[in-house]
Amino acid sequence: MVRAAYYDLLTNIPNRTLLMDKLTTFLSTTYDTEKYASLLFLDIDNFKKVNETFGHNIGDHLLKQVAKKIENIIGEHEIFARVSGDKFVILIPSLPEEKQQAEALTLQYIHSINTQFNTPLIIAGESYHVTFSIGVVLFNHEHSYFDLLKSAETAMYEAKKNTRGSSQFYDSSMSVLTKEVLTIENDIHKAIQNNEFFIHYQPQIDVHNNKIVGAEALVRWDHPIKGSIAPSKFIPIAEESGIIIKLEEFIFNAVFQDIKALFESSKAKDLKHIAVNVSTAHFLQPSFVDKVMLLMQKYKLQPEWIEFEITESGLMRNIDDAIKKIKDLKNFGFTFSIDDFGTGYSSLSYLKELPVDTIKIDQSFILNMNNNKGDAMIVESVVSIGQKFDLKIVAEGVETIEALDYLKAMKCDTYQGYLGYKPMTLKDFSSIL
Ligand SMILES: [Mg+2]
Repeated sequence: MVRAAYYDLLTNIPNRTLLMDKLTTFLSTTYDTEKYASLLFLDIDNFKKVNETFGHNIGDHLLKQVAKKIENIIGEHEIFARVSGDKFVILIPSLPEEKQQAEALTLQYIHSINTQFNTPLIIAGESYHVTFSIGVVLFNHEHSYFDLLKSAETAMYEAKKNTRGSSQFYDSSMSVLTKEVLTIENDIHKAIQNNEFFIHYQPQIDVHNNKIVGAEALVRWDHPIKGSIAPSKFIPIAEESGIIIKLEEFIFNAVFQDIKALFESSKAKDLKHIAVNVSTAHFLQPSFVDKVMLLMQKYKLQPEWIEFEITESGLMRNIDDAIKKIKDLKNFGFTFSIDDFGTGYSSLSYLKELPVDTIKIDQSFILNMNNNKGDAMIVESVVSIGQKFDLKIVAEGVETIEALDYLKAMKCDTYQGYLGYKPMTLKDFSSIL
């Protein structure tokens, strides 16, 4: 067998195939099941950025140096492999029988890896500071190769949620979550094909004259077996897994088609726009603006008919790109609102920079403002900030007359909530216009 089949060509260390081979052999022969062992899953933080900013050539050099450095730390019984891209695996085969000791030694080991990378790598005269997110599975007794690798990887993704350079031990609650996530992810794939998603519209009402001035398009999922699944359950999973982009492409098509029908009917005369939610992942895609413009042509829509709702916390991830896209789309005539305002960073300095038209006050504040002073104060502050920045204010979650009166007194513009209407089908929506 040629070496290339077992060794990674770039770094010259074992590849995934050889890792599987070595691990399986270890687990079935040399492993003393009374003792603990650790499997570490390493992922270089922000490696994608290195490739994007400095090119793949630099990225490759970086991977080579990383592999070399770790190889120098690895003992002769340990297994070290590159499993893909910037992902590496280390097996520490023989740890104490006592769990706490095994854990402590594993942490020491991780510490020694991190220490090695305290000094930056030098590539083509430039220095690069490398950190890892590390997932760890500590195990004894019998396990399969596949389960161990999967668990360590799951823990690595947990570690990624923390700051750069974090490590995380696997625990079984993660796997339950992962299983559920995987099931929903699969179901979403199928549901798009089987047309299980449909759109409801929740009217937006002028606080002062009670006229319907718009609606928010909301996705609904009718699962053939599980029944209706709440968006709060599947949207976060769709966002995390990236499938949200596919889902939103489906939603955009459905909603844009509806918008065309709505605005061409005689009933739309008081209607300003339909609000369409956009996830951060989708919005930050390089092709987002082009994609929207293609759909506009396809359905022959006017940009004024659409207001995009974006969430504040997501935009912080790439604020410059967000500002540029908002400006580009606003030039065509689209408008923008910040969704769930108040729940994330709500920083005034970026509110100043973001060229949005509307702020939506999150329903958690509106629902309680009549019996909670703190919530009432937040609502008042947001309304007054919005007014100073010359933004429209939409209050979400208005369910009582008292809440509406309060918003009226504050000169809030628009509201959405069960006091007005629940989300409804397009047919019902156009019949109440
Ligand atoms: Mg929304």
